Amino acid sequence: MDTNPTQTAFTKARHAQQHRPTTRELSDILLRYHDLILTRQTELLDTIQAETGKARAHAFDEVLDVAITARHYAKIAPKALKQTSKKGALPVLTKTRVQREPIGVVGIIAPWNYPLSLAISDAIPAIMAGNAVVLKPDTQTPRTAQLAAEILYQAGLPRDLLHVVPGSGSDVGQAIAHTCDYLMFTGSTATGRKLGAIAGERLIGYSAELGGKNPLIIDETADPEQAARIAVQASFANSGQLCISIERIYVAEALRDAFLDAFVRRTKALRVGIGGWDYDMGSLISAEHAHKVHEYVQDAVAKGAQVLTGGTPPEGKIYQPTVLIDVPDTAHLKREEVFGPVVFVEAVGSAAEAVEKANDTDYGLNAAVVGRPKQAQAIARQLHAGTVNINEGFAAAWASVDAPMGGWKASGVGRRHGVEGILKFTETRTVAEQRLLPIGGPENLSREKYAKVMTSTLRLGKRFL
Ligand code: NAP
Repeated sequence: MDTNPTQTAFTKARHAQQHRPTTRELSDILLRYHDLILTRQTELLDTIQAETGKARAHAFDEVLDVAITARHYAKIAPKALKQTSKKGALPVLTKTRVQREPIGVVGIIAPWNYPLSLAISDAIPAIMAGNAVVLKPDTQTPRTAQLAAEILYQAGLPRDLLHVVPGSGSDVGQAIAHTCDYLMFTGSTATGRKLGAIAGERLIGYSAELGGKNPLIIDETADPEQAARIAVQASFANSGQLCISIERIYVAEALRDAFLDAFVRRTKALRVGIGGWDYDMGSLISAEHAHKVHEYVQDAVAKGAQVLTGGTPPEGKIYQPTVLIDVPDTAHLKREEVFGPVVFVEAVGSAAEAVEKANDTDYGLNAAVVGRPKQAQAIARQLHAGTVNINEGFAAAWASVDAPMGGWKASGVGRRHGVEGILKFTETRTVAEQRLLPIGGPENLSREKYAKVMTSTLRLGKRFL
């Protein structure tokens, strides 16, 4: 009998995974979950807000995300997981099929910033693919994950297929990384590298959604007022504690003044506070984090940056949305992720300069472009980022759950969402059945003749296959 809660969870999960419901049954459970998440949203919103201090509207984004993800995978999984036929080694003679099997027990290590979404939205495809899950929520937000799991049990999921094990990264997180059959991590790039090393050593699959320093490009064809509206939402949603939120804005020189006027006006108008639907922005996760965010701003100001709005010392967990200009290259926030409501604006002389600056980062998670669709699409094609939003900051790509989402460069490995987001939780088995003739040709065919036949076959095959 295991006495360690993480090991006990794995033991139970392994057993439950062997006796899991069918794909059809799992799909029905997820569709019921979709409905229950919407029905029990008040309880969820209260719990998320109590743990994070975020605005109710931003907590609601999480409810939406989980419902959409549950519906999506419930609907696409039966087809995505089905056996498929492939071209065989030799036409007609080789019948080749690819089968998909669950990997076993998936370990999920989640952060605090979207405690519902980022805990459960990866568990959904993992479970739908036939795995069990052991999930560690962040130490600051365990109750949201526990409630989300309770609702999944209510929808009919056998309890042992999903274990939420609260605890620290150094204890529970490490135990998960060393025990699971596939590791899914969302969090900082620094932790992502450490966990990647463990996954590499253990030769298990690993997918990581990490940090970003996401740019927004405002093309000269943009309307400055519309650009300002998008920039406010993109930079300050969830108080900027969002891996895909915008921390750098590159605006066409000709629009600089009009954009800054509108952006600062709209930022100042944001209602910041902890409570109901009327607030536009909530608090940060903790006073400690607010202090860290302020240190970034102070460092930039000490090195010559100008504050257009915000930048005042935190009041407890509250940090005012902050817009900076003239940020020198030596300021830490020029390249490092702040993960708070702080954004800097820089004017650029051309779209080419904007693209060069946008791509000049170790990260590559999300980017956004505001402008006429033709110009914006041309810019989008040049950006080194896993998602690019046009005339939106991040929500259009994030909510496109049928499309892959994830990071280039130091922003991650692997993808969530789309068919990639479920297939990564499976192993493939290629079954190739040889019929009528062996691959090496009839037994009485000499090796030399075989080589000649194969040479001609390849030449023909290049033309016809
Ligand atoms: P973090 O420090 O990396 O923590 C994330 C999770 O990992 C927590 O549950 C933490 O446990 C655990 N952890 C920390 N060190 C660990 C270790 N050595 N072994 C195993 N587990 C460990 O990240 P954070 O600062 O809380 O979250 C913010 C970061 O997440 C930002 O960089 C943000 O960009 C990124 N993020 C990325 C995405 C995305 O989809 N790309 C989404 C959201 C957030 P504790 O409970 O002990 O802290």
